[in-house]
Amino acid sequence: MVRDIYGIVDSCVDRLEELKKDVETNTSGMPPMFNREVIASYYGVTSNEEITLKTPKDIRNKGCGPYKKRMITDKEKAIDKSKKSRTCSLCGLPSHNARSCHKIFAAAASK
Ligand SMILES: [Zn+2]
Repeated sequence: MVRDIYGIVDSCVDRLEELKKDVETNTSGMPPMFNREVIASYYGVTSNEEITLKTPKDIRNKGCGPYKKRMITDKEKAIDKSKKSRTCSLCGLPSHNARSCHKIFAAAASK
């Protein structure tokens, strides 16, 4: 059984070598074909146009991480928020709030 399989494989190899020799003898006088010519002969389409490729503007590879490099923690957010100076909601000036605004005191004094 095993010997039969080896015999079949050997005969197949012999046939393939004969076919290879046939192809080589039939195509010996032909010039070598490039990939484009082979594709054109298969599909019957010729492409004479030049192909220009543009590199994409923003290339990002795997593992680069998010665009923003580091996450801002809640503590940092709170610190940034506290750095903004608060202003009075009545007059818009800093250094006091609406409860201690001079407008309220002026209104109370005029009464
Ligand atoms: Zn005010």
